[in-house]
Amino acid sequence: MTPLARLLAERIRETGPITVAEYMAECLMHPAHGYYTTREPFGTGGDFTTAPEISQMFGELIGLALAQAWLDRGSPSPFTLAELGPGRGTLMSDILRATRSIPGFHAAASITLVEASPRLREVQAATLSAFAPAWVDRVEDLPRAPLFLVANEFLDALPIRQFLRGPQGWQERLIGLRDDTLVFGLSARLPQVPDTPAFRHAPEAALVEDNQSARVVVAEVANRINSAGGVAYWIDYGGWRSEGDTLQALRNHAPDDPLANPGEADLTAHVDFEPLAALSQAFALDTQGAVLSRLGIDARAERLARNLTGTALESHRAAHRRLTHAEEMGSLFKVLAITSAGAPPPPGFS
Ligand code: SAH
Repeated sequence: MTPLARLLAERIRETGPITVAEYMAECLMHPAHGYYTTREPFGTGGDFTTAPEISQMFGELIGLALAQAWLDRGSPSPFTLAELGPGRGTLMSDILRATRSIPGFHAAASITLVEASPRLREVQAATLSAFAPAWVDRVEDLPRAPLFLVANEFLDALPIRQFLRGPQGWQERLIGLRDDTLVFGLSARLPQVPDTPAFRHAPEAALVEDNQSARVVVAEVANRINSAGGVAYWIDYGGWRSEGDTLQALRNHAPDDPLANPGEADLTAHVDFEPLAALSQAFALDTQGAVLSRLGIDARAERLARNLTGTALESHRAAHRRLTHAEEMGSLFKVLAITSAGAPPPPGFS
């Protein structure tokens, strides 16, 4: 039993079963035992590898897309260059290197990072020490200015709730105790559930996931872009509409039972983009493979390949494939871009 499992069992014994969202929030962000607050999840030593950690090309192309969007919108100055959940700071570092030669872009940018983990803030501060970024706790605290934002694998870490459509109505999936072990169970029937298309169209026996935290975050960003201008790119794995139980745990690069090792495994869920896209005035959605290809990843990969030989060249080619190929991250990962009504379309979409 992990230390966090003991704490959760105590809490459940005292106050009853908890929701999947409460469980996820504790597992990821508990101040003393949370996964992001205590562990180094990224890279070969960690549990998973994200796109910016696979290749510098990812951040370079996103950086150039943000800069192009900024130019298309008349180079507003000052503006906020924001990232949500920056991990090790690799993506922002690649964005800033790739945009160095765009006249005025760095001078006009105030770089702001939204990060909940104090430990990861320190890592980000070291990676980005040349740029003096600012940190805020929530998107509501971002400066009021035109907003150019990226969030990679951020929404999938926000806590989801799960609901089951039974013959007599909706019930929520809860986590309780059996013989001191954490187990899934169901709530009593619910008088109401969130009013999103996934709930409205769910067949009987369907499990529907709801990421209310993601809706709150995306709504705030969409409102700001609508009033002050800008673009936001949300990159994550998932699909258009909730498709059953996608809660998953990863521990030491291998799938784990989500209830087995709270605090010691990464927990994520697929992102459902339909209810998020609906929050913006104008959006575009496509696969990561298609967007990176329109942003010019093939040419960039060839350019970098010219200076490489041997195993470095092989791993560069493998990284290119991993980011774009349909059997790897190319089609499971999606890019949702949101902008304001009547604004130029976001770079990377046809
Ligand atoms: N974008 C990075 C890291 C993804 S992991 C990459 O692609 O490599 C998720 C990141 O979001 C971590 O930095 C984590 O600490 C942060 N995070 C998770 N929940 C958060 C929340 N509610 N508020 C702010 N940051 C959060």
